[in-house]
Amino acid sequence: MASSKLTSFLLQNLGELKSQGLFNVIDPVEGANGPIISVNGKKLINLSSNNYLGLATDDRVKDVAIEAIKSHGVGAGAVRTINGTLDLHLKLEEKLAAFKGTEAAIAYQSGFNCNMAAISAVMDKQDAILSDELNHASIIDGCRLSKAKIIRFKHSNMDDLRQKAKEAVESKQFNKIMVISDGVFSMDGDIAKLPEIVAIAEAYDLLTYIDDAHGSGVLGKGAGTVKHFGLQDRVDFQIGTLSKAIGAVGGYVAGKQDLIDWLKVRSRPFLFSTALTPADVAASTTAIDMLMESTELQDKLWENSAYLKRGLKELGFDIGKSETPITPCVIGDEKVTQAFSKQLNEEGVYAKSIVFPTVPKGAGRVRNIPTAAHTREMLDKALAIYEKVGKELGII
Ligand SMILES: *Cc1c(COP(=O)(O)O)cnc(C)c1O
Repeated sequence: MASSKLTSFLLQNLGELKSQGLFNVIDPVEGANGPIISVNGKKLINLSSNNYLGLATDDRVKDVAIEAIKSHGVGAGAVRTINGTLDLHLKLEEKLAAFKGTEAAIAYQSGFNCNMAAISAVMDKQDAILSDELNHASIIDGCRLSKAKIIRFKHSNMDDLRQKAKEAVESKQFNKIMVISDGVFSMDGDIAKLPEIVAIAEAYDLLTYIDDAHGSGVLGKGAGTVKHFGLQDRVDFQIGTLSKAIGAVGGYVAGKQDLIDWLKVRSRPFLFSTALTPADVAASTTAIDMLMESTELQDKLWENSAYLKRGLKELGFDIGKSETPITPCVIGDEKVTQAFSKQLNEEGVYAKSIVFPTVPKGAGRVRNIPTAAHTREMLDKALAIYEKVGKELGII
């Protein structure tokens, strides 16, 4: 019999969510997650994935993954330290270091795991972490796990960061102090002010930690935000994911050899969770090769995003202040935002509404991520649907 405490907890909390319209029903995608997806038997133009370069369904990447399964099997068999480190893992890590311009890299099972792993392996309760208030949930959880004092600074507000860094140093309460930021913020598509963050870090001797999940494969000829600004020698931790632009699943930290050596002996998801699968590792290695060989996919991604942004703007939508392919369509009111997204879906565009608490109250938006795999025809069709629904709902 289920615990009565659990039953009443779930009944009350699920009931509250449902009555507030906040209970999220998850749509299963039938088949691959490409630029066109099938949901409930209906074909939709997909503007909701993080598959920026279309690599999740790329033929060359798929073939390599199939070959890796044939040569290495479906699972790594163990955690990395016991006997789960395959030649494929080492090859991927070498490639990641070259890609990021660092001495070394370590791969984890996901980007989320990376943040669980790396922050708490280095920071502890004698330390402090300066964290941008809009940082990703996995950074927030990683910080909490470390038991360091968490000091939030206002989003991309460099005066606030400088002031809080100064106070933290002058308090003499902390052993080490780290500054953590997303490289690209996923809700607005704005880029962190890395040159200023690094300058402040150098002035106050802060450790620097940049999670570039949405920047890798997108900025800096694919190598990410840090390389975009030429700061690869001045950022201690470069975090990336293999789950977004790289198209597979996994995450990594790139940095100095000593740091990576330490993470290999002290970071818990590395030590206590089974290694990435051969297929994911081989797919990621090839995807990175492709990024290093040519900027064709990035060029296409940026061309498509410029086209979609221009089209939405010309229709009269508020597309915020994104500096990256992330293209929000800011609606404001939560209910209208949800109705808008639902109607887009009815008409053939899959673009999800994002509302409070993920973004501030009154800042509801539908977020679009065009990819390199979208054709001009798909984008034109999406824009026509945006126009129709926008007019129907009186948004434009
Ligand atoms: C998506 C994301 C992650 C999680 O990456 P996964 O590989 O999907 O676990 C971590 N950090 C940031 C900033 C992200 O946007």
